[in-house]
Amino acid sequence: MALIVQKYGGTSVGTPERILAVAERVKRWREQGHDLVVVVSAMSGETNRLIALAQAITSDPDPRELDQMVCTGEQVTIALLAMALQSIGVPARSYTGGQVAITTDHSYTKARIEQIDDARMRADLAAGRVVVVAGFQGVDVEGNVTTLGRGGSDTTGVALAAALKADECQIYTDVDGVYTTDPRVVPEARRLDRITFEEMLEMASLGSKVLQIRSVEFAGKYNVPLRVLSSFKEGGEGTLITVDAEDTMEQPVISGIAFNRDEAKLTVRGVPDIPGIAYRILGPVGEANVEIDMIVQNVAADNTTDFTFTVHRNDYRKVMSILESVAKEIGAREVSGDDRIAKVSLVGVGMRSHAGVASQMFATLARENINIQMISTSEIKISVVLQEKYMELAVRALHTEFNLDAPATVE
Ligand code: ASP
Ligand code: MG
Repeated sequence: MALIVQKYGGTSVGTPERILAVAERVKRWREQGHDLVVVVSAMSGETNRLIALAQAITSDPDPRELDQMVCTGEQVTIALLAMALQSIGVPARSYTGGQVAITTDHSYTKARIEQIDDARMRADLAAGRVVVVAGFQGVDVEGNVTTLGRGGSDTTGVALAAALKADECQIYTDVDGVYTTDPRVVPEARRLDRITFEEMLEMASLGSKVLQIRSVEFAGKYNVPLRVLSSFKEGGEGTLITVDAEDTMEQPVISGIAFNRDEAKLTVRGVPDIPGIAYRILGPVGEANVEIDMIVQNVAADNTTDFTFTVHRNDYRKVMSILESVAKEIGAREVSGDDRIAKVSLVGVGMRSHAGVASQMFATLARENINIQMISTSEIKISVVLQEKYMELAVRALHTEFNLDAPATVE
């Protein structure tokens, strides 16, 4: 018998029928003797609808009032799910974030959870009830409603699991787990049985959108085993995300391939090679609130160097004009850029104990005649920047090269 926190996303509770299906699933888990705390999102589309309503009143809604309103999406689904559970004979009670004392800081629309008092939930569980909690919301110490940022119900689920020391936090969504890469690009992509928090963070921040990144960080910090499962399919083990990939012997070198088309690169050429120059270039970019991803600076020849970095494609124009004025100030030769690039990354904790992954990656890309424009590495990741039009080809070739393709099914 275990204590399990389950979180159901918007599509999983998108209609009354889906909510009844969730109730049936919760009932089956409970019949196996488990204690259940269930976190739900708003019905799919509802949060967007509410935000649009606010926008129809004013283009700049007060964040406090915005949170006061968007939290209602989840308040509807918790009550509906509790009713659904009761209607099939499962005792249940629903609570808003404030009612189970999810205390956050004061940052409306992006609040952070500071404390959870589990007494009320424990009492319900002890009385044999399923506890249904609204995701995405909390209250600050003054009792103002706050929300945790888009996709924040994942974080609620993990935070409750951490507070209750649950055996597992199950995230039910519309995919049946975390895949080696996006199956829309590589139909042979495989569901991973296990992945580590570190790998998941790299996969998530690089564009796979299964889980809110913050929830993975939270789960890693508090060591909450996280499992991603489909709410549309019965059975299935999903993907378990834990600290260690258990069987290191069996651990493949590469766990997955992430990619991102949303990047652009900018180069400042002929930069005087003197102390402080990186700061003079990147300082104004940071001040403009633009996040910088990869940075490469060349070895200087003739006392000048080239400086290249990548940013989100939406920031390309803005950064280009910043650099044009910076280049004049520092006496650099020219600024150039390309917003039709993509980043492809191999991710795997197995890289730590295996040499030669990078050269195998580069050999594969060379064989496909794909030019590498930038390279960056960390302990568990190698990323390359290449022309966007070759991205899918690169991902497919690497997926095969690193033995990630699902075995062909025999008909
Ligand atoms: N309903 C919120 C959103 O759409 C929170 C969530 O679904 O996790 O962002
Ligand atoms: Mg979500």
